[in-house]
Amino acid sequence: MARIISGLIACTATLLLPSHALITQDQFEKMCDDLASSLNVENGAISSIDFVPAGTNLTIPVDPSCPPGTQFVLVDFCRVTLDLATSDRSSTYMEAWLPRNWTGRFLATGNSGIGGCVHYWDMAYGAALGFATTGSNNGHWGMNGTTFLKNDDVIEDFAWRAVVSSGEAGKSISAQFYGNPHDRSYFMGCSTGGRQGLKMAQEFAELYDGILAGSPVVAFAHLLSALGSFNPLIKEAGPDGVPPPSTYDTIDNALLKQCDGLDGAHDNILDDPSLCHFNPNSLTCPSEAAITPTCLSKKQARLVHDLLSPIYGKDGVEIFPRMNPAPGIVASTIANFGGESQFLYTDHWFKFAVYNDPDLDTVHLTPEQWAHAWEKDPGGCNTWSGDLSAARDANTKILHYHGTADPLVTSFISNDYYDLVSETMGLLPAELDGFYRLFRVGGMGHCLGGAGPVHIGNYLIGAGLDRLPSLDPDENVLLALVRWVEDGAAPETITGTAYNGGDPGAGVEYKKRHCRYPTRNQLAKSGDFRDPDAWDCIERRTPRAGVI
Ligand code: CA
Repeated sequence: MARIISGLIACTATLLLPSHALITQDQFEKMCDDLASSLNVENGAISSIDFVPAGTNLTIPVDPSCPPGTQFVLVDFCRVTLDLATSDRSSTYMEAWLPRNWTGRFLATGNSGIGGCVHYWDMAYGAALGFATTGSNNGHWGMNGTTFLKNDDVIEDFAWRAVVSSGEAGKSISAQFYGNPHDRSYFMGCSTGGRQGLKMAQEFAELYDGILAGSPVVAFAHLLSALGSFNPLIKEAGPDGVPPPSTYDTIDNALLKQCDGLDGAHDNILDDPSLCHFNPNSLTCPSEAAITPTCLSKKQARLVHDLLSPIYGKDGVEIFPRMNPAPGIVASTIANFGGESQFLYTDHWFKFAVYNDPDLDTVHLTPEQWAHAWEKDPGGCNTWSGDLSAARDANTKILHYHGTADPLVTSFISNDYYDLVSETMGLLPAELDGFYRLFRVGGMGHCLGGAGPVHIGNYLIGAGLDRLPSLDPDENVLLALVRWVEDGAAPETITGTAYNGGDPGAGVEYKKRHCRYPTRNQLAKSGDFRDPDAWDCIERRTPRAGVI
């Protein structure tokens, strides 16, 4: 055991070793100051170059709709900010964070939602691990899409170009600063960042040696159609047709009763939600006169059924898979999509990118309009190509993950994307393993958070995202990717960590190895779900008759 542990420590240390003798803080600060007189970025207008010491709580000058306002930084770095022209009528704001403990690696970070916001927490994480790190506002400021209106160049930036342009500029800035080009380049993102990562894998694979793509919003137009379909559904159900909050526990308990044990563990986590076909009819009250918080009216049960069903478009063809059946999913779907207004991303994408009509009624979009959005595919944002041969040929490694309790982007779309790649390339999972691996993270919400062992090193940890997670590559997806690229050791599983009470400061509760799709986690009979060795990765199978 001691040998294994020392091996792990040695491996982690190698991955994080600076590529040069660490210079003093004073020397580094001077190096940063000197950059101002020499830096030249094609199409770039440099705003500032500043030395930022470790321990700074950086005030972030962002759009008011962008979180978080401040970011704690863990290492000394040189911060470069600039505007980069991407066409004669579009540009992207970007930053490069160049750490003193540079490992020779480059990292580009992605965005989220329909924004518009620099992910400073990802940049702080990348810099802390010794990556020369870039982030951009993806071509427009703020968590909205109004600037897409009648400007295809802003849409192109959002779909792919801001990542490509800011990545190339960042690589140049890094090389000019350190005096050497980077050794390896990586991309990391979740949600829209996950989609950006897969876009890079599909069309720009030569730019990155490794791509970490989480909870990707691929099949973008269909996703927004699907999420937009909930708003009219909930409104039309009316006040008496929407389950009130008093019934949420009852719904969750029934879902867990039907499905929690399918993976062998009664742990409030559905490791493979595809096994679960929750039937809310079991909750229907015996009569309409006897409705209580422990049962649903037929109308309420019908809405629950519909919110957890696939979305069908023109001619009854399924255009998007169902939401993850997971505790809390009915409550979150009603809260996120059942408001007075249409879901903002759906509203803005259809108004400003698809139809160029700010007055469009987006609450009552039709299947024909969904199909139009898919076919028009502004900017190529759908990101639904299953051909990853360029990535395979460039020896680019793709590590893809998705939480099985994601309340915004169902994990089923990641399964579907993996299957699309398999079909398109005619490759079996064992053959895809060489360059593309998907891990489902049981219980994880959208990109982070959730119940159980959901900490996988895709983010800094702590309430302020200001602390390092485990740096063991077995427990850290970013460093697992680095090890795969640089040492050829591909991750067989991804170990997630659960903290006591969900608080990283309260110590580790337990760990679990999340399996690689298409296998799934199954707990051995009589095993303790807190024991990582009690779980197996087994082939998916349909549940036993009578279980659901
Ligand atoms: Ca379970």
